[in-house]
Amino acid sequence: MTVERINTLVVGAGQAGIAMSEHLGKAGVPHLVLERSRIAERWRSERWDSLVANGPAWHDRFPNLEFSCDPDAFAGKEEVADYLVAYARKIDAPVRTGVEVRKVTRLKGRRGFRVETGDGVIEAVNVVAATGPFQKPVIPPVIPESAGIAQMHSSAYRNPGDLAPGAVLVVGAGSSGVQIADELNRAGRKVFLSVGPHDRPPRSYRGRDFVWWLGVLGLWDMAAPAPGTEHVTIAVSGARGGETVDFRQLAAQGVTLLGRTSSFAGGAVGFDDDLTRNVNAGDANHDGMLDAADAYIAANGLDLPEEPEARNRLPDPECMTNPVRSLNLRDAGIGTVIWATGFGQDYSWIEADVCDERGRPRHQRGVSPVQGIYFIGLPWLSRRGSTFIWGVWHDAKYIADQIAIQNGYAAYTAKAPAMTEPA
Ligand SMILES: Cc1cc2nc3c(=O)[nH]c(=O)nc-3n(C[C@H](O)[C@H](O)[C@H](O)COP(=O)(O)OP(=O)(O)OC[C@H]3O[C@@H](n4cnc5c(N)ncnc54)[C@H](O)[C@@H]3O)c2cc1C
Repeated sequence: MTVERINTLVVGAGQAGIAMSEHLGKAGVPHLVLERSRIAERWRSERWDSLVANGPAWHDRFPNLEFSCDPDAFAGKEEVADYLVAYARKIDAPVRTGVEVRKVTRLKGRRGFRVETGDGVIEAVNVVAATGPFQKPVIPPVIPESAGIAQMHSSAYRNPGDLAPGAVLVVGAGSSGVQIADELNRAGRKVFLSVGPHDRPPRSYRGRDFVWWLGVLGLWDMAAPAPGTEHVTIAVSGARGGETVDFRQLAAQGVTLLGRTSSFAGGAVGFDDDLTRNVNAGDANHDGMLDAADAYIAANGLDLPEEPEARNRLPDPECMTNPVRSLNLRDAGIGTVIWATGFGQDYSWIEADVCDERGRPRHQRGVSPVQGIYFIGLPWLSRRGSTFIWGVWHDAKYIADQIAIQNGYAAYTAKAPAMTEPA
């Protein structure tokens, strides 16, 4: 059996794998990108139909190619996928699609890995896992199948017409949950939205999009989440040209807000008594960003228009003053529960000690303690921006650099005379 050999094998051709290929190419590292499906597959088949990028096109992109749409617009999911395909073509990335990586094991007695794929075996000195920050849908085990209600993860939702008739309970108020709840409500569905802790930055303030504010305030570069806030999700939306997510506004439009989903008994879902606390904390996060922006404008003498109305707040809706703590699914006419509760990761295909006891990859800025294994695209890999299109490009540059450095050490052959025993 012939075994193909390559210095560096990149697994996955989403934005992370493409960015990796660009930087490995620039560093002169021979490499190959294997993708089990199509380039940017998750943008094509694991997102809902109407999804647009959360950031404007001028920002959510790689540095060396602009989107063809208006730079201030929010590219649709297919446009994002097309952009990544065009980018791969532009840099002539050596991508092989339709080839799954099934197992990676260390070679015995020499540097490198044996990689079993759906199309034969490859030996690689380095393996970069670019298989995504959001791989496996996570649905908390709250409502049993025996409840007889249609349940799906947000990654399986496509559009309102696809759902069973009736009201919808959306669990999770990050960017996916709020956008799906809003879309269903606008489509005439009765919507219940379970709201956990979240940040909700203003979409724009004083003439600048929030991506610009996070940039100039150094918040994209934050190296780690604030202690205790690791699970705080961020609620932003580029839908309809981009609007600030405002839970009071959603309630005014007819969405019933609920606290965190916590239990199920006798056909009824139970919710924590934390709705008001969560909404108020989100408001504080929103206002904190306005304060930081105002301070930045003052300190830098910028001439940006005042926007006092950004601090206006609708009164607490009835669902906050008199929160629903229990909802009988049948009585409420709920036909579908959508879990917008995030994703997990699976690195079981790497048969080396690369993960901690909770299955999370161990690494420093993507460099694993197992020599030759690298991770790219993970949440907070080096900073807050690490999972975003533009952020992953910078992380890829660092990792390609580390691989080139190690290749340099490996290529070194000693020219110094051998040490002689002292007389
Ligand atoms: C709903 C949603 C909206 C988002 N919106 C934005 C946004 O607006 N702007 C932004 O910057 N980011 C956004 N993100 C975050 C991020 O950009 C995406 O999650 C993006 O898909 C991550 O890219 P990636 O290349 O790291 O991983 P992925 O896109 O997940 O790519 C990984 C690739 O690896 C392949 N693969 C996996 N396992 C194997 C294997 N064993 N062998 C071979 N191939 C394999 C997969 O098929 C896939 O193509 C969003 C995320 C979600 C969930």
